[in-house]
Amino acid sequence: MNCAEMREILPAYARDAERSLEARRHLSRCEDCRAELRRYETMLGGLSEMRAQTAGEVPAGLLASLVEIPNRETTIDVMKAHLARNRKVYAGAAAALVGVAGAAVGAVALRSRGRGKSRWAIA
Ligand SMILES: [Zn+2]
Repeated sequence: MNCAEMREILPAYARDAERSLEARRHLSRCEDCRAELRRYETMLGGLSEMRAQTAGEVPAGLLASLVEIPNRETTIDVMKAHLARNRKVYAGAAAALVGVAGAAVGAVALRSRGRGKSRWAIA
């Protein structure tokens, strides 16, 4: 599996819907894709926060946290445990992606445009 293939399944991976050995193997040796996964997880977390607020308002600090690329090392196991704990939240946030949060998603796409590799498969 290469980075382009990984990015295609990343949203599903973050929702724990796609956990192939190939994907896990790629993440274990690709820091770029791990960073992308963390950003996606941050976005999903931010969206569930947003859903609890008035529609159309971006929560304070959301964009900042999305733009910031975390430097800490995160193992696949830690991510899996985190996702397992938050599975419901992510499922809800994924539904919210389609509706309330178009503006925020657009902002994320703009922010990551410079990297040239980002591609969100949303909808
Ligand atoms: Zn990669």
